[in-house]
Amino acid sequence: MSDYVIPAPKIPTIPVDGGGEFPVRRVYCIGRNYAAHSIEMGDDPDRDPPFFFQKNPNNLDASGDFPYPSQTSDVHYEVEMAVALKTGGTNIATEDALDHVFGYAPCLDMTRRDLQGEAKKKGRPWEIGKAFERSGPIGPLQRVADVGHPDNGRVELLVNNEVQQEGDLNQMIWKVPEMISYLSDFFELEPGDVIMSGTPSGVGPIQKGDVMVVNIAGLKSLTVKVT
Ligand code: MN
Repeated sequence: MSDYVIPAPKIPTIPVDGGGEFPVRRVYCIGRNYAAHSIEMGDDPDRDPPFFFQKNPNNLDASGDFPYPSQTSDVHYEVEMAVALKTGGTNIATEDALDHVFGYAPCLDMTRRDLQGEAKKKGRPWEIGKAFERSGPIGPLQRVADVGHPDNGRVELLVNNEVQQEGDLNQMIWKVPEMISYLSDFFELEPGDVIMSGTPSGVGPIQKGDVMVVNIAGLKSLTVKVT
């Protein structure tokens, strides 16, 4: 028996395609990693150093449902690819970075855009807009052994069978190995860390009843219903 003085929190997990559960330690999300999305958010997409924010590990949700969150009237989808690490370290070289990857998953960086916008205006942190309950629909996680390291091919988001976002993995400003290397200069990466690799242009609002489908070339799809 443990000495925990309250019930221990559950370790959040992502189901792995083919069986098993991937335990999640941290979730890092990159901002503005596709030039066209950077422009639509009012920024200059030069190659400034990347910036990251975090979601909470238990914000990831493989249930297939996205309950419309509280305290907002403008929730946006952002289609992304998640990168799940099986090993970590510090000061990881770009050329070694992919050795640390367990697998990849389609995911969504759901955003309370109205609250994020207010936070940006006031120079405040983004958690209220980004790190809320069930804000990271995700899954299934697919092993490198099965899918390799996807670095080009179509990324799209359909809402009610209509394409709303489209791009190509090869349009990422910061590639997956560069993101891992950069993060490892600032943080100790460990097994269970997940990186959400940014969204192409076309972000927009959803409503209750909408069905979102994430298709990423080479990966199985993710379907999420807004409830
Ligand atoms: Mn995002």
